Amino acid sequence: MSVADLIQNNGRTAFSFEILPPLKGTSIDKVYDTIDSLLEYDPKYINITTHRSEYVYKELGNGLYQRNRLRRRPGTVAVAAAIHNKYGVCVVPHMLCSGFTPEESEYMLLDLQFLGITDLLVLRGDKARHQQVFTPEPGGYSHATELAEQVNNFNNGIFVDGSEMTVTNTPFSYGVACYPEKHEESPNPESDLYWLKRKQDIGAQYAVTQLFYDNQKYFAFVEKARQAGITIPIIPGIKPLRRKAHISLLPKTFKVDLPEDLVREAMKCETDEDVNRVGIEWCICQCRELMAHGVPSLHFYTASAVDSVREVAAAVY
Ligand code: FAD
Repeated sequence: MSVADLIQNNGRTAFSFEILPPLKGTSIDKVYDTIDSLLEYDPKYINITTHRSEYVYKELGNGLYQRNRLRRRPGTVAVAAAIHNKYGVCVVPHMLCSGFTPEESEYMLLDLQFLGITDLLVLRGDKARHQQVFTPEPGGYSHATELAEQVNNFNNGIFVDGSEMTVTNTPFSYGVACYPEKHEESPNPESDLYWLKRKQDIGAQYAVTQLFYDNQKYFAFVEKARQAGITIPIIPGIKPLRRKAHISLLPKTFKVDLPEDLVREAMKCETDEDVNRVGIEWCICQCRELMAHGVPSLHFYTASAVDSVREVAAAVY
């Protein structure tokens, strides 16, 4: 069953979460530990992020530096397959424009097709650290909509060079990203919604939000989306606040506001442990309100927050 089917037929708010592939050179055991610790809350699907290559500089000792291209977290497809085989849970590998050519994306689709994995989250991807603005690979895509079109063509048996596939399997279905507080590059919220509607029209079956801490922003966004003709499920993306430093880091990194009540409580804390407790309690309230509102699924970002996510899941599921 696809993610869209799973959340629509669940009858109650589904639990799901995102994990990162292990750092290059580390084992997959930590990924399994994360999943094992969250399995009892019955995840309906697990997302696996994708990370583009970056330039890293190695000091050569003679005043010179050598520039190398490195993917710190490769292995999205393999990790997705490993999870799928071990747990039998629906897996959703992320697919990016950033750092990948259309041909490389096609190879990813072929690998996934052979593995029987048919759910995707189709994204543009973050810009590389050395880029001022997002820059596609030569011949690559500037937006998730273009990658979604490639997936559609693949589903229709057409490769990127226009040649035809002899065998077509179960088609890929996919979700996309959305931003209750607006994508940082969007000139205004209306333009962002215009492009979200375009993603729906192309074939996205659902959208997952950027993390947020203020439910009112999510509710207002969903209302505006519905007015703009966007009918697909809009899944809230959630992450508990964990450390005092995150009070300024989260707005900077994710372009989201933190509600004043949350900031005030966190600022009163003397230790990060106390902030973590405030973050968990805030998140539980957030999730309960979202569930009461009938959201189809709560999607948790687990990076560096597995213990907190477990506590929240234990309280709300
Ligand atoms: P797009 O849909 O291309 O949108 C980017 C901007 O362009 C928006 O302002 C939009 O309004 C506008 N726009 C959209 N389509 C068009 C168009 N056709 N023409 C003109 N303008 C357009 N990043 C990673 O690197 N790896 C991940 O695994 C990853 N997972 C994520 C998961 C979720 C749930 C979310 C919310 C984000 C994730 N990201 C990930 C971050 C994401 O890649 C960045 O936020 C990126 O800057 C935008 O991606 P997008 O798919 O929304 O891009």
